[in-house]
Amino acid sequence: MITQCRICNSSALTKVLFLGDVPLAGNFLTSHLQRYVTHQLDLFYCSECRIFQVGNLVDPSELFGDYHYSSSQVTALLDHFSDYAHLVKSQYSNYKSARILEIGCNDLPFLRWFADDPSYFCIGIDPSFPPIKLPNLRRIQSFFTLDVAQDLLSNYGRFDFVYAANVFAHIPNLIDTLQGLRLLTSDTGRIVIEVHDCLAMLSSSQFDTIYHEHIYYHSLSSLAYISRKCSLSIVQVEQIPTHGGSLRVTLSRAAHSEAQSIVARQTDLERHAIPLLASTFSDSVYSNLALFKQIVSDLDQHFSISCYGIAGRAIIFLHLLSLSPSFFKNFYDDSPQRIGKYVPGFQPQIQPGQLISLLSSRDILLITAWNYVDAIVDTLTLRGYRGLAFVLLPSPKLVFIPPSYQDKTSIEFLCNVLKISL
Ligand SMILES: [Zn+2]
Repeated sequence: MITQCRICNSSALTKVLFLGDVPLAGNFLTSHLQRYVTHQLDLFYCSECRIFQVGNLVDPSELFGDYHYSSSQVTALLDHFSDYAHLVKSQYSNYKSARILEIGCNDLPFLRWFADDPSYFCIGIDPSFPPIKLPNLRRIQSFFTLDVAQDLLSNYGRFDFVYAANVFAHIPNLIDTLQGLRLLTSDTGRIVIEVHDCLAMLSSSQFDTIYHEHIYYHSLSSLAYISRKCSLSIVQVEQIPTHGGSLRVTLSRAAHSEAQSIVARQTDLERHAIPLLASTFSDSVYSNLALFKQIVSDLDQHFSISCYGIAGRAIIFLHLLSLSPSFFKNFYDDSPQRIGKYVPGFQPQIQPGQLISLLSSRDILLITAWNYVDAIVDTLTLRGYRGLAFVLLPSPKLVFIPPSYQDKTSIEFLCNVLKISL
């Protein structure tokens, strides 16, 4: 178990949450009878560098050996990366040629927008996908380290734009990683990092984002600390909606004064807000879990409950509800990597999302991928789903009533259980 912060080596660590033994978030099974491993999950806060981190590290080969996450299966993420790629392209439109590096490029939802444009040279690094080689795009199958960065520097030189979206949660040695990114960034280049914002996690009790794959939960303060350690300056800070509230932070090798007042104001806010929220986080998570369990038990008296959007975070969420293996009628997801698989601890096999059209008005869907609820509600309409749908996180809410829905009693019952009014 951890005794010192992995980032700043301080022993000023406080355990803020204990979630017991839980399965791995990416651990989909091939049978509901298959045995699965669990690991103790605790969250610690370091008051020195203001980062949160899990207590136990699980071996990366166990975490990512059978990895089922594909960004391109999530419409909202595709839109996010498409919008940002076009913004980046507009920023480099005056360049004769621009050099782009992405770590954790997954199945290329960002880099694909540069693939057909010969004015870019792109490299994407990711341990989970096989290498490809196109005229202006190379995907390299590897974890990213300072050693790998030195090899890349020898072979390809430096880059104008370096991107790391949703990867700073997964990498144990972040100082080594950021030093590697700095090495590969040109003097006028930019490094852009996107992370889930721990303030959003704490303030709306997003405990389902806490799992072993996510070693770290960042604040602007922790990113500022890591950047200083690597002689990088913060140029820009943006709050973006991805994953229920994220930070996009731009860094450069050269000193910049423009963002200093914004960084100072935000880190000052975090100095007060984070310890306060951290001190009540455990109580808030456990009271929410008790409430959510009561809600689904009450709804079970009136509806057949199924779940839609079985992302990794749903494995943790459903496990923490401590329900019986046969509690849910069906699980639905649109990712080919998950369809046909099983959620640890539950009997239903994950069905293709299109099959929700077979459900009746007596069915109800719990949207477990609540961070994509808007896109999922559009999908429910398109697929002619005839029942109601609700979310529990970040707070219980009725999110879908079909246009032709006639059963007012069921709507009233749901509103009563969720303690909401229409
Ligand atoms: Zn620390």
